[in-house]
Amino acid sequence: MKIQFLGATRTVTGSRFLLKEDKTSILVDCGLFQGRKEWRQRNWEPFPVDPRSIDAAFLTHAHIDHSGYLPRLYQEGFRGPVYCTAGTAALLDILLRDSAHLQEEEAAYANKKGYSRHRPALPLYTTQDAECVLQQVRNVEFGAPRAFGPFTATFSSAGHILGSAFISIAAHGRKILFSGDVGRYDAEVTNPPSDMPETDVLLLESTYGNRSHDHEGTEQTLARIINTTYHRCGVVLAPAFSVGRCQTLLYYIRKLEESGAIPRRPVYIDSPMAVDATEIYVEHARDPNIRIPLSTDPEHCAIKCSEAHFVRTREESLRLNSLEGSCIIISANGMATGGRVLHHLRRLLPSPKHTVLFVGYQAEGTRGRALVDGTKMIKIHGQYVDVNARIESVDHFSAHADANDLITWVCTAPRPPQTIYLVHGEPDAQEVLASRLKADVFANVVIPDYREEFDV
Ligand SMILES: [Zn+2]
Repeated sequence: MKIQFLGATRTVTGSRFLLKEDKTSILVDCGLFQGRKEWRQRNWEPFPVDPRSIDAAFLTHAHIDHSGYLPRLYQEGFRGPVYCTAGTAALLDILLRDSAHLQEEEAAYANKKGYSRHRPALPLYTTQDAECVLQQVRNVEFGAPRAFGPFTATFSSAGHILGSAFISIAAHGRKILFSGDVGRYDAEVTNPPSDMPETDVLLLESTYGNRSHDHEGTEQTLARIINTTYHRCGVVLAPAFSVGRCQTLLYYIRKLEESGAIPRRPVYIDSPMAVDATEIYVEHARDPNIRIPLSTDPEHCAIKCSEAHFVRTREESLRLNSLEGSCIIISANGMATGGRVLHHLRRLLPSPKHTVLFVGYQAEGTRGRALVDGTKMIKIHGQYVDVNARIESVDHFSAHADANDLITWVCTAPRPPQTIYLVHGEPDAQEVLASRLKADVFANVVIPDYREEFDV
């Protein structure tokens, strides 16, 4: 087999890996690049191989940095099936439509305000492209081998988000495992990742390769942040990805309310996609990734807070601007690179009574990273906004394994892989994780470059 790295090399977005055997080519994950301009630019470059030559795509999970390039791939001529689990398929349906809508909106806004260098500014892809590629989606059961040409793919739950899987692909007696995003061993909302199966080659994510999650006091930290903001009659704005992080946050808010650690105040989920995703979580309550009770009955659903308001329309969202008093607003997207959260940031950042609470990884080059790093001014929709609000960051809600979790997971395999390729991580994290893996697992560790190809 030959593997070519077409993204997520020395960065955390744009996961896409091309696997070739005999005359068959398959793509594992098909993510969008986000963050720094030089990476986002890659979304616009011609795809490194002709999309018409790719026979199928396999998705580890629905997050946009693993799936969001699919409509563009379709636009460029890809017509093969897209294999994923039922939970991923359901989430993909809303994520890709939303991503297309955002692309269209951004292009329209840029045209209206005239801040794009391209006239007219065009979307990366359209809703129609997204709808067409969604027609290609085929469901795969967890644990049931799926043959495609010389390949046999098996999906196992990764404990990251609903539907998430790592995928083992075998061909002619060789096995390669794509970790996707690996979940945590101590998460409350998701189950731990399934044990790693035997494999010759492993592509391992390394987002938190140099970090260990704070295991102590998270609930107290969250309660302190919420209570001090309420005390100032402020708003807690939590930029959060609609899928995964939003539901985790809802779970902890409900838990804190029930224990009396925070008062019951309104919680607005201002993202139509987060609203839909929460419903999909409930519909797929039996997905092996999910650990908590989910139900259509709010009483028995661990992610429904007492005063949760699900905000669907733009008008309802704009009405939040005139709200008096303290509340929590959860809005996408999680790294503040786009979406409704930008309007809330513009309104709330100038006042010191409000808090912006980041609950996920903030990639280099994003507004989220700039705020966490302490910037005093930020550009939103072409205008500078003063930052006086408190900026807090709690990474415990991350759905990603930390360095210890990753090592633990690799050690669950019956034997160590011969070679581990580190992907989906920034250079510092990858260097640290590489030396730990060499010392602890005795594997050959490679940090591949963009477009690099290897025989495996
Ligand atoms: Zn993910």
